[in-house]
Order: sequence, then C-alpha cells, then structure tokens
Amino acid sequence: MAVSAQTGGPDGTERSTLANGIQQCSFDIAKFHFEDPSGTYLIKGTSGSRGWQTKYALIARKLQSRAGGEKRAKFGHLSDRGVCWGVMKQRMGELELIETIRAGIGRRSSQAVALGIGDDCAVLRPPKGHEVLVTTDFSLEGRHFRRDWHPADSVGHRALARGLSDIGAMGAKPQAAFLSLAMPAEMMGSRAGRHWVKQFLQGLGRLAEEFSVPLAGGDTSQAPGDQVLVDIVLVGSTPRGRSLRRSGGRVGDMLYVTGALGGAAVELAGLAAGKRRRGSGHPHLYPVPRVRVGLELVRRRLASAAIDLSDGLSTDLAHLCKESRVGAEVWQDRLPLGAGAKLEQALHGGEDYELLFAAPARVKVPAVIAGTAVTPVGRLVRGSGIWLVDRDGERRRLKPGGWEHFRAIKGAGSTEKQ
Ligand SMILES: [Mg+2]
Repeated sequence: MAVSAQTGGPDGTERSTLANGIQQCSFDIAKFHFEDPSGTYLIKGTSGSRGWQTKYALIARKLQSRAGGEKRAKFGHLSDRGVCWGVMKQRMGELELIETIRAGIGRRSSQAVALGIGDDCAVLRPPKGHEVLVTTDFSLEGRHFRRDWHPADSVGHRALARGLSDIGAMGAKPQAAFLSLAMPAEMMGSRAGRHWVKQFLQGLGRLAEEFSVPLAGGDTSQAPGDQVLVDIVLVGSTPRGRSLRRSGGRVGDMLYVTGALGGAAVELAGLAAGKRRRGSGHPHLYPVPRVRVGLELVRRRLASAAIDLSDGLSTDLAHLCKESRVGAEVWQDRLPLGAGAKLEQALHGGEDYELLFAAPARVKVPAVIAGTAVTPVGRLVRGSGIWLVDRDGERRRLKPGGWEHFRAIKGAGSTEKQ
C-alpha cells in the first residue's frame, strides 16, 4: 500500500498496528514513507471508542503540514465492525520528495560520509592529511536547461556534472554531493511531475555512481514560480596544499586541453533547432566531467594551473591568465574540434566541461591521461594579452567570447560564477 511506517502505522492491511484503535496508536509522522506514486493511501484501523474522527483530522493535518501537500478525498468511515478507514489523496510534498531522493540515490555508503541524509547536518570525514574543497552550482530552468529541450535525466546529469567538473579542475577527489531542488506546485501535484523527478534523479544517480560520490544531503521546496530550480554542492578533497589553482601558471608554461572543444555548442544548437542527436556522443546533454584527469594531474604533479571549460576556452583562459598574471597564445590549428564544431564554437562555445591546464615546458605531458586525449594548444606568455595564432604565424587578439547560457532564450542572462 501507499504508506508504510518504519515503526508501526497504517499500511492498509489487517495487520495494521492501528488494529487496536487509532486513539491508542502513536506513530511518528516523520517516519512515513510515501511509496505510491499516485499519492493515494489508505488509513485503516479499528476504533471502539469515540474520538477517532478527531484523531484522523489531527493525523491528516500533520501529514498535510509535514508533507507540504494537499489533502483531498474523504476519510473517516466507521463500519459496523468498528473498522474505520479513510482514503486521502496527497500531493507530493517535500517529505515525499526527500524520501524519493533518499530511496533513489541517497543510500550509497562512503568512508567520507560518516552521517548522510536523515539528520540536521551531514557529517563528513575527509581522508587524513587532506583538505576540503567545496563548490556550488545552480542549474536553473530557462537559464541552464529547458524542460522542452532537455530530458529530465540530462538535467540531473548536467547538474551534477557542473559540480564534478569544478572538483576535477582542482584535481580533487569528490567526497559528497548535496542537492537542493525546488519544484513548481503543478509538478508536485502531477503524475508527469513525479515521473520527471524520478528521471532527473536517475540521471544524477548514474553519474554519482560512476564517480562514487554519495548524496549526503540537501533541501527540497516548492518553487515560488513555475520553474524547476536546482543547486548542487560538491565537496572534494586533495592532499593538503596540492589542489590545482588558476593562479599557478608561469610564463613559458605550455597549455593543454582534454578531449574536444565545441561539441556541446553544436549539440545545443541542434536542440534549439528541434533536432535530437542520435548515437552515444552527447557532449551537451551528458558531458563527462574530467575528474580522473584532474586526479592524475595532481598525483603525477604534471600541472601548474588548471580550470574547467564551463564558459568556453576564450573566457576560461582569460580567467586563468588573470589569476596567473600572464598572457597566452593559442595555436588555432592545434585546437581539437568536437564533431561538427567550427572554430568559433571551439573558442567560445561553453559547457564542454573539458579541462584547460598549464604545465612547465620541461614536464612531459602524456597524450592520453586517464583514457582521455590531451592536446597542447598554446603557451603562456608575458603581458596580459591573449592571442590566437594561425598556421602562418598571424596573431590576432582573442577576446573572451562571453558564453551566455541559452542566448536563444530571450532575456536569459548568464549565472556563471567567475
Ligand atoms: Mg569552473
């Protein structure tokens, strides 16, 4: 049946712990599981005395307020055998949402998480001699995704990928993720909305599984408007003092990128044009964060500075140069282009989630790290200018292309952090 409780409570069967009369049964509302996706459940119990209606009303109110939902339908019949029952229709409330998350992906155990979902705080236990890195990323409907373009599992995947990519860029090992999710009332009350959440969590859960990162907590709420709002916090760790920063680049260092560039922009343009790309490569819908490459860069002490390419090469390189107080030249011919990508998309297209890193010229950087291709694309130079150099040695200024998420969406601006 729809509702079960960990310790007693109605489950719609004759063995209900309410069998002795609902007034005599105390159960903890907080321990209820809302398992029926339709949100309908039966409360059943026997009552030989008066007052059960009052008790039902009290339970209903509690459920309503705890779950943030809406009670519908009737309850409170008393049969001639003294069995009282009621059926309530409950919209998916926060409690159910939390239970869905917990049941779906919050169960993975981890050494780093001493205490996960279920208490007021999570308790983390970073490895000895490590320091803790934290990053937070919004995924907002209309800014970072559209429900009519992005499948729900892609939204979940990308939300986590954004955080993992930042963790990877610092060379850290992901230790725990925290998810905050606000859903419009209309979705919380509909079967389609529940389905969307399940798919969203599946996408997020698959990527979490791939990188062994447990979901250790978060928050849920009804969104004030009609858009889905997601925030992900990622916690990672590196050996003390070993994290890769943007500021470590020096004049003469070589610049490298992982994977290929511009593929995400190509796929996004396709989505905007109503085309879903077939096949396995989906650099926009399902980007692969380069966490393993980051870990190797730290372990083998290969890189002097790094950043992930969330906003596009031109913009993110400018961030790295600014923090390292250097300029850079980018070799146009050497840029690894993603499938179907043009130079402009490789330079300015955002959300490739590849890594850009610098390494001293004397360091031998392998062509493949952790199974991912690594390509030299330029070097750091004196000054503050960033130059694009073509095959004839012609130099032109490379200005940050300023990736704005969904420029196609009117009025939508970027929420990228700097
Ligand atoms: Mg970043």
